[in-house]
Amino acid sequence: MTATTTPKSSQDSLASVDPAVAAIIDHEAARQQNTLEMIASENHTSAAVMEACGSVMTNKYAEGYPGKRYYSGCEFHDQVEQLAIDRACELFNCKFANVQPHSGANANLAVQFALFDPGDTFAAIELSDGGHLTHGSPVNLSGKWLNPVTYNLVTDESKDDWGYLDYDSIDAVCAEHKPKVLMTGYSAYPRTIDFKKFREIADKHGCILWADVAHVAGLIAGGAHPSPFPYCDVVTTTTHKTLRGPRGGLILTNDEDLAKRFNKAVFPGTQGGPLMHIIAAKAVAFGEALKPEFKTYNAQVVKNAKRLAAELMSKGFKLASNGTDNHLVLMDLRTVDADLTGKEAALWLEKAGIIANMNTVPNETRSPFKTSGVRLGTPALTTRGLLEDDIAQVATLIDQAVRSKGDQAVIAEVNKDVLALCERFPMG
Ligand code: PLP
Repeated sequence: MTATTTPKSSQDSLASVDPAVAAIIDHEAARQQNTLEMIASENHTSAAVMEACGSVMTNKYAEGYPGKRYYSGCEFHDQVEQLAIDRACELFNCKFANVQPHSGANANLAVQFALFDPGDTFAAIELSDGGHLTHGSPVNLSGKWLNPVTYNLVTDESKDDWGYLDYDSIDAVCAEHKPKVLMTGYSAYPRTIDFKKFREIADKHGCILWADVAHVAGLIAGGAHPSPFPYCDVVTTTTHKTLRGPRGGLILTNDEDLAKRFNKAVFPGTQGGPLMHIIAAKAVAFGEALKPEFKTYNAQVVKNAKRLAAELMSKGFKLASNGTDNHLVLMDLRTVDADLTGKEAALWLEKAGIIANMNTVPNETRSPFKTSGVRLGTPALTTRGLLEDDIAQVATLIDQAVRSKGDQAVIAEVNKDVLALCERFPMG
């Protein structure tokens, strides 16, 4: 079947149909051009990914899976979903993929629905130590309807591995609570995850091993972080962070029985019709990530983060775990100013044109609404083309903004330099 005519209304540009929304989107494009995006979980997708997101694929209901839909007319949706599945499996070197989760949280919910009965125990890390809300926070379904038990980071600051995962504590928590599932994967952990070690602990205590690699998925795909396969039973991720795809989620496994359970748990368990335009965009992003350039990109993401860490430490900032192995850096502000909160620092950075987020840090003493830290990441700046020496300049600007004490004149000076840097790296 080929398309013959296109309805007139879909040919009209957004600017003529809805100038109000078009203007807002234009302003957002300008904001992205004129600021340095350093939120570790964000990125700039390619024009091809955005084209698929904005395509006619959005118009279709395609409940079910390729070849087994509840609606007619899904020929091309089957093709694009199968392509996304095949590319995801090739990218992560595994056998089964579900590309339908609307987000990382939805992927995690589906896995929890598939694996747990209400009240079941699982082990994960605290939100304040770098975990995610869906890993057992009391305000999330995972914390209300399940029984999370938590393991720790190394807390002794005199030790070389301060701020690293404390594998002895993981082993001890599993020995004490015998969780059904052991979870790894984090939102604010700057170090490499040892999946093999997790497997050994999971085997010792009879746990299913689940990695939520939302943050490092791109690094894994690009060979800049070890793979969770073959060690993990299930892997979830978002597709929009280091992986540089559209906003969305993904579930991966090598186990056929688990794959069937996850498919049922996504649809009809926790979702309705899949977002087929987003699945098309996921296929595009996975295709991009399979190219050799994606390896180069991810290697640069890590080089840039390491340089950022080194520069910030040389300026007197303390970083969680004293550095980074991946794409993110977690600044503990208490060493430069005991009264400075992450909330204030993120605000001053934003006024200077550097976009970051306040974040809790190891041994946190403040609430998540204030925090003692700022999380920074290099995926978006690396997409934009910044290299290590440019990142060193960014570190100087961060230092100036964070130490400005909110002085508007200082912040305005920093912003001038930020704008000059942004101009050197125009958005694609
Ligand atoms: N898992 C981890 C480790 C995350 O960092 C995030 C988001 O930041 C999620 C899950 C949730 O992803 P989403 O915001 O797409 O629901």
